[in-house]
Amino acid sequence: MARSVVGPEIEKLIQLLARLPGLGPRSARRAALVLLKKKEALMEPLAKAVAEAAAAVSVCPVCGNVDTQSPCTICRDAGRDRSVLVVVEDVGDLWALERATATRGRYHVLGGVLSPLDGIGPDDLNIASLNGRVREGGISEVVLAMNATVEGQTTAHYITDQLAGSGARITRLAHGVPVGGELDYLDDGTLAAAMKSRTPF
Ligand SMILES: [Zn+2]
Repeated sequence: MARSVVGPEIEKLIQLLARLPGLGPRSARRAALVLLKKKEALMEPLAKAVAEAAAAVSVCPVCGNVDTQSPCTICRDAGRDRSVLVVVEDVGDLWALERATATRGRYHVLGGVLSPLDGIGPDDLNIASLNGRVREGGISEVVLAMNATVEGQTTAHYITDQLAGSGARITRLAHGVPVGGELDYLDDGTLAAAMKSRTPF
């Protein structure tokens, strides 16, 4: 262990920064140094923003999204298509779909995927609340926007079974050729999935 060259406050700051995704110990030290050098322009506003967000953040009781208002900004948005419900694994997936302006529907955040090996069953996810929302009526389509992983697809199948008889049409995201993708560079599974889910031209 290297001799500490900074006080405990800075050491703690570096350790916490290092826990952020994309920041290892080295990047965390660099980030901490930038903060220290830009105390008024960056460090103090950041500390204030973090404190304010921490005080206000909560999980939306309707959809499971994380936001600083409850119900969340999306659930409050009167301009949303209330007949379409997009089911995602995590808040990050919701943000990604919003960045892409992929839908005007509302969301339901599961909070993970079924994973027997990790001991994650249906009761650990927001599946019962999804079922309740869909069976309340008014939803004509449920889009299962799960990751194209084994766990994601297993979860999608489970939800499809749960929603049987609800009257809502269950759809899922297409699997296939990415925008700008060249066939020669695709893996076999993606290419086979693209062929299987081909659409009329
Ligand atoms: Zn919400």
